[in-house]
Amino acid sequence: ENRWSLHGATALVTGGSKGIGQAIVEELARLGAKVHTCARNQQELDKALLHWQSLKLDITASVCDVSSRTEREELMEKASSLFQGKLNILINNAGTSLYKTALDIKEEDYKFLMSTNLESAFHLSQLAHPLLKASGEGNIVFISSVGGFVGFPVSSVYGTTKGAMNQLTRNLALEWAKDNIQVNSIAPGPIITPLLLSYFDAKDSIRNVENMGVPLGRAGEPVEIATVAAFLCMPASSYITGQVIVVDGGMTACRF
Ligand code: NDP
Repeated sequence: ENRWSLHGATALVTGGSKGIGQAIVEELARLGAKVHTCARNQQELDKALLHWQSLKLDITASVCDVSSRTEREELMEKASSLFQGKLNILINNAGTSLYKTALDIKEEDYKFLMSTNLESAFHLSQLAHPLLKASGEGNIVFISSVGGFVGFPVSSVYGTTKGAMNQLTRNLALEWAKDNIQVNSIAPGPIITPLLLSYFDAKDSIRNVENMGVPLGRAGEPVEIATVAAFLCMPASSYITGQVIVVDGGMTACRF
């Protein structure tokens, strides 16, 4: 067995048409996994699929809004039929943010963030459990955030979804260890994606990215999260479970 390969593994990655999810999909496929992904926007998904076909990567995709319970069930049925009921990897990546102060958050805003970021990750993990168990070697990776550890302005509910996700990581790791399912989480710092750029558009200048108190002196690239996600799914990391790995250029090293 090659400890540094994903050859023959099957993977479901949510939110793969852009940003961090897209980089994870590509990294897993390059390392030999068969990957299925989803997003809400069909056109962007089709564009990504064309790109992956040109790279000869084994990637399929379908439209799914992970904030919908029925759509999550349909997504897992799709993955199950594609991979004959066996899944090695579930990456709960789809997520979003609203840049509003706590007092400006409306009831719909709260529900939208909770269902998109947290309920989706919990329910998809539940739905994936039989498939992960059947594969014999299962891995769940949550894409959390440094916002789940430290406070940032205008992200109270976002930070809450990610803090809860960090705790969910430890609980599921404990419950599902007997089924040989490892459960870990990655907490990225600022990563250059459409989501981060939309925040800086809102705050005038992308130059702010360079001024975020990151000791490495720059924002991260999506691939710098994707490589860690791939590692967590490889036999190389077979003794790591229940952990939240911070990947933030040192941003929170001086804040705990
Ligand atoms: P982007 O907005 O750039 O990309 C998000 C991806 O998820 C897109 O493919 C999007 O496609 C999809 N998506 C969003 N909502 C849904 C939904 N309801 N159902 C299905 N797919 C969905 O975000 P990032 O790549 O920046 O973020 C990915 C994850 O990383 C998120 O969980 C985010 O919280 C986390 N993160 C990001 C950081 C950053 O600095 N960028 C920092 C820390 C954490 P579509 O819109 O078509 O649905």
